Amino acid sequence: MLIHKIETFPLFYRLPAAYGDANGIKSYRTNYLFRITTDTGVEGWGECVDWLPTLHKGFQERIIPYLIGKPIVDRSKLVLTLKKWHSRAATAVSMALTEILAKSSGLSICDLWGGKYRDKVPVYASFQSYSVEPDWHKHSLEAINQAVTEGFNMIKIKIGGKSISEDQLHVLSVQHLLQGKISLALDANQSYDVAAALQWKTMLEKSPNLLWMEEPLQIKYIAEYIVLRSRFFVPLAGGENIKTASDFIPLLSQYALDYITPDPLHIAGIDEYRETLSLARKFGIRATPHAYDGALTRLYALFAQACLEPWSKMETEMIEPVEWDVMDNPFNHLISVQPSNGEIAIPYGIGIGIEIDLEMLAFYQWDGSSYE
Ligand code: MG
Repeated sequence: MLIHKIETFPLFYRLPAAYGDANGIKSYRTNYLFRITTDTGVEGWGECVDWLPTLHKGFQERIIPYLIGKPIVDRSKLVLTLKKWHSRAATAVSMALTEILAKSSGLSICDLWGGKYRDKVPVYASFQSYSVEPDWHKHSLEAINQAVTEGFNMIKIKIGGKSISEDQLHVLSVQHLLQGKISLALDANQSYDVAAALQWKTMLEKSPNLLWMEEPLQIKYIAEYIVLRSRFFVPLAGGENIKTASDFIPLLSQYALDYITPDPLHIAGIDEYRETLSLARKFGIRATPHAYDGALTRLYALFAQACLEPWSKMETEMIEPVEWDVMDNPFNHLISVQPSNGEIAIPYGIGIGIEIDLEMLAFYQWDGSSYE
């Protein structure tokens, strides 16, 4: 079975109301989907998110010409080569080839991976808390209220982009809204040093609904994470931008974090992503996937979590949640899987078990222009 055809679908959406985190304010969302068809007519989808002008050129001029005519069963070799050119493209291609292998075996992705431990996986509502308006607190609280009404029982909000006192006022208002009934994670996007992170100590150690604090420090500062973890009795999470399974080993082996947050799109290849989850299990550290860029990537994070052995024997704690983007982003709906009561029912059909919304691909087609 050979790769016969690759069609690309670059997608662009200008946000009517910008939002963001400590890394800055976003004014658009993009997506890059492609469909690989084999010479026997089997199709598989891949997804990648990056700046469209260079991504599209890379696919058209190098990645697609390289892949055409290659055997599907050479997945590992192909992904390894692509990894040298563009790590996220390598992952996206590995998704499509995995789907093709599953379909041609008459299996779902989960069955191909050894089978599911569970039919449902919890998700947490992930917010970009900041906006350009001075009353960003108000907008944030309205959005959180909506997610709680929709049934989410875990949320993540952003800190680190404003002063600690302004962020703490926001967190206090959020906690007042949640009334201890909804679990809360805070994400600082690597904004602090140890001293700044410790300014949260008094407030957070009194919060029984706190899930974790994510990336208070730059992720490369392992020694500082170990110091913070010894002084701060709040679970620490991080690692969304780490690109290989082996790069997680120093964090895992030194117990610098309570949770790793690998992202299937940021680790080159969906197989290596699953190796990372497995590695976390070997070290006895929890893994809660970062899955912010794209609905198909997130679906693979859900499949992997469904197939991951439990971390605990406690009935309510058996599997860690997956990130669920609840901000204005039409590409969250490219796949019809949506949460109910904070959980996703894993699709069980052959391949990914679900169709991509082709009308949406046509509607949001990128016009080829450059953008900021
Ligand atoms: Mg994060």
